[in-house]
Amino acid sequence: MKILIVEDENRVSHFIQKGLREEGHAVDVAADGEDGGFLAEVNDYDLIILDVMLPKKNGITVCRELRDRGINTPVLMLTARDSVEDRVRGLDAGADDYLVKPFAFEELLARVRALLRRRSDSKNPTLTIADLELNPLSRAVTRSGKPIRLTTKEFSLLEYMLRNPDKVLSRTLIGEHVWDMNFDPESNVIDVYVSHLRAKVDKGFEQPLIHTMRGQGYMLSEKTPPG
Ligand code: CA
Repeated sequence: MKILIVEDENRVSHFIQKGLREEGHAVDVAADGEDGGFLAEVNDYDLIILDVMLPKKNGITVCRELRDRGINTPVLMLTARDSVEDRVRGLDAGADDYLVKPFAFEELLARVRALLRRRSDSKNPTLTIADLELNPLSRAVTRSGKPIRLTTKEFSLLEYMLRNPDKVLSRTLIGEHVWDMNFDPESNVIDVYVSHLRAKVDKGFEQPLIHTMRGQGYMLSEKTPPG
């Protein structure tokens, strides 16, 4: 999943970034309300973690402006201790949940999971193509019922491909959704990960699911694409 953190306190921001990256998320960071609002508008995030007290533009204004522009990305607001008013204003401005500072990382993770889960189809979260299944909640991956062990990044890549089956996914698109904004699209990192993924998902099976679209990118499909 791709997550934006808008937080001006370096220490807090680093702590959240590090933890979410370890969980396999792609994370972008903005240190003030203007940058945060801009990134949230131009990129397609699965979740925004938004501090209330920010330079240039506060989190409540950022959230209200996003909602006014029809951007419905879930927002988790970070508020100061004892500020009932901030919490109420945040929820009124369209935030989905809030967390009071200081918080334990485990609690943040639980809220993040809950919001991401609410965003995906909660009744049937399993993503499937042919005999390949991925459950974003339990993080179990199987092919023909056989468990497949993936690293966090491989898992994120496969989840992204399963959410976009039968579509040509360029390296730029994959980079934007699975890596963060500092990702260099000229590097061969994606090709390396795709080849690892292919070795785990397709090797030993008759039907290949991950296809290379020469000069264009990759596609996850049950059908073998022409060319
Ligand atoms: Ca702050």
